[in-house]
Formats: sequence, structure tokens, C-alpha cells
Amino acid sequence: MRQQDERESDMTVELICVGTELLLGSIVNTNAAYLAEKCADLGLSCYFQTVVGDNEERLSLTLSQAVKRSDIVILCGGLGPTEDDLTKETAARVCGVELELSQSVKESIRAYFEKRGMDAAENNWKQAMIPRGAQIMVNHNGTAPGIIMETGGCLLILLPGPPNELIPMFEESAAPYLRKLTPEVIFSRTVKIGGGCESKVEMLVKDMIDRQSNPTIATYAKTGEVHIRVTAKASGLREGKKLVKPVVKELKKRFGDAVYSSGEDCTLEDAVVNLLHAKKLTAACAESCTGGMLSARLVSVPGVSEVYRAGFVTYSNKAKKKLLNVKSETLKKHGAVSRKTAREMALGAAAVSGADVTAAITGIAGPGGGTEKKPVGLVYIACSVRGKVTVKKFFFNGNRQKIREAACTSALLLMRNCILHFG
Ligand code: ATP
Ligand code: MG
Repeated sequence: MRQQDERESDMTVELICVGTELLLGSIVNTNAAYLAEKCADLGLSCYFQTVVGDNEERLSLTLSQAVKRSDIVILCGGLGPTEDDLTKETAARVCGVELELSQSVKESIRAYFEKRGMDAAENNWKQAMIPRGAQIMVNHNGTAPGIIMETGGCLLILLPGPPNELIPMFEESAAPYLRKLTPEVIFSRTVKIGGGCESKVEMLVKDMIDRQSNPTIATYAKTGEVHIRVTAKASGLREGKKLVKPVVKELKKRFGDAVYSSGEDCTLEDAVVNLLHAKKLTAACAESCTGGMLSARLVSVPGVSEVYRAGFVTYSNKAKKKLLNVKSETLKKHGAVSRKTAREMALGAAAVSGADVTAAITGIAGPGGGTEKKPVGLVYIACSVRGKVTVKKFFFNGNRQKIREAACTSALLLMRNCILHFG
């Protein structure tokens, strides 16, 4: 995978996530992923990310090193009221400044508790102590203020650990502050390709990657999909769009129908639901090994109610027969995981729900239940559009969850394909 961090940038940023829980693996470092992505969007180059425990000495060491080699250091976590929260104290020490009481922060902490009909604990006042000369970022979802300070030409940004506090604070205060420091804008579009594998996709755009400079092209492998991110650096949004547009157009030309979207927020299920709307078709699903996952993905799309009829979770043979009229003979002769069963499930779902488009999934998600002839990962997916049925056989890799996810993605792709080529 080609990473964006190879891109040249004038400003470097470094992340330090503080918390022993992170080191022990008891929580996943989602803040690092979030901040790294946001910094890339801001045109900042991130070369280092560190996780350090709630330990003053080691945090001090990490931070001293970071301020020497980076233009901006973002710290997250350890701004709470307890003894082990020591990020702010350590940062002040590394920068050689004193902490002093901020009356305005003290007042907002008091108001925060008053609003909730509670008294602040004694140690909450610790959160009103701010490094001298620092700027404060308001926390609307907690008591710890965010802090922006400077030392020796390096900018330090301190954010609280809980994501529900960090994300709004970053968006509301830190990002606008950083945006002012970076004169260039970063504009990107993601061309989303259903099916195919990353290496194949990369081969098809190799010439474009080889001569890329601005915009850059990067491929990302997703379950059952490949995304190509086109990123331009420009002096303004309009110029950014102008640079990206012809590249997106060329990619669409090369991948044709396989491109289901070039919108940042459009998921595969969004694309399928949009297509159902556009073609005025209704849909339903019949699922065995995915147990409703496909239905859940479709139902996650706002406005789906106009086009979605029903989801059948028919896990046992009995349910397949009773709810979808799959024939006993089919199950006996070919088994539940077979081309024929998938076909009958799709047709059954159409007959019972009256939907125009139905998808059916039957497979072996494992870890048990596989045989030599029907191994774990074997999945049949059928799609019926007004009685015209297409069935495909797949072999997916991975654990139970991965196989089920891949089956749903393939079912969505098959639905999309069948709808596109119907009639
Ligand atoms: P608090 O006031 O809650 O103590 P804090 O700023 O001191 O906030 P931490 O004590 O480090 O932050 O973490 C509090 C909680 O925030 C953690 O238990 C965890 O749920 C979440 N959290 C902290 N750091 C991260 C991270 N890097 N990624 C995701 N979640 C995190
Ligand atoms: Mg804490």
C-alpha cells in the first residue's frame, strides 16, 4: 500500500497518546487514527506516533524528544482530575513554565457541575491550573480544558483522552487553529471500486502512480473493495478540485461500472440504496450464515424505508423451508450451502415479500462445519431481479466475522451489478 505520509510537507506533526491502558491493550488507540487522518487532511506530515504510559519520567523523555524534531506535537489523554493524569504538569515542566489558576476555567468547571446538580470534587480544581501563557480550548463535554502552548518554536496541543471530548474539541478549536498555520489546502476524493484486488487495481493505474506528483494517488484495500484516494495540494479549494477532477475522471474511465462512488461519505450500501431509488425498485434479503448483517447494512442507510421490504434470517433448514419455501428435496440433494438453495432462497424471498430485487446468502462461516468438498469460507450468493436469478460461488478467507463481512459486501456488489444490468 502506498501511504500518504510519503508526501512532502513543510510542517511536521507528531502524536503522543498517553495512557497505561493503551500500552496494555485494554483500549484501542482510536484517537491516534482519528488525529492522524485529520492531520493528513490539514496537509501536515506525521512522522512519529508514540504511546506512553501514565509515567512522568517517560512522558517527559518522549515529549522532550518530540519538541526538538517536530513543528507541532499533539498529546492526548491524561488531562483528567486524578493523580495519574499528569500530561499538563509534564508539558509545563518540559516547556519550563509554571501552572497558574485560570479563573475562567474554574468558573466553567463550577458551571459544568452546577448544571448537572453536582458538586465538584476537590481534585477537579486541579483542572483549572493552566500553564502560563497557554491558550485554552473549551471542553463542552467534560471538565478538562484543552491547551495550546508553545516552546522553542514548537506548538503543543493537549487534548483530553475520551473521544467524545477530543473529537468535538479538535474540530471546533484545534483544527481551525492548525488550518491558519498551513496556507495550503488539501483536497481529496476517493474513487471506490467494488470487487477486484488491490494489486490488480494498482497494476491498472501503475502508469498514473509512476508519474504522479500533484495530485497523488494511493490505493487502499478494503474487504471486497479497493479505494483509490486522489489528493491534491492547492492554494485554495477551487484549485484543489480542479486538480483532482481530471484524475477522478480518468479512473472512472478505466474502471467503468466497477466504480460505485467517488463521494467521500458514500458507502457501498448507500450506492445500492441510491440505485434502488433511482430505478424505483424494492428489495429484500434472505440470509443464512450472515444472520441479518446484510439487512442491517442496508437498513443503516437513511431513507431506505421507501425501497426496503423485508429481511429473512433463515438459519436452519426448517426456517428456509417454512419462511422461504426452499424445497426439502433441494436441501437433501444439494445441501443448505449450494447454488440451488441460494437460488430458491432468493426466489422465495421475492415471492413472500413482493420485492423486485432479492439477495440471498448461504455459506459456511466456520470455524467448524467445513468439509473437503464444502470448506469453511464457501459461500453462495444469489440475486434475483424480477425473477431473473444470478448465483455466484465464493471462497472467502479469514475468521468467521471476516467471512460474514465479505459475504455481505459481495452480496451488495452482486445486487448492484444485477440492478445495473437488468432490462
Ligand atoms: P479523564 O478526565 O476521563 O481522566 P483524560 O484526558 O485524563 O480523561 P485518560 O484518563 O487518559 O484521559 O483516558 C480516559 C478515557 O478516554 C480512557 O479510559 C479511554 O476510554 C479514553 N481514551 C483515552 N485515550 C484514548 C485513545 N488514545 N484512544 C481512544 N480512547 C482513549
Ligand atoms: Mg484520566
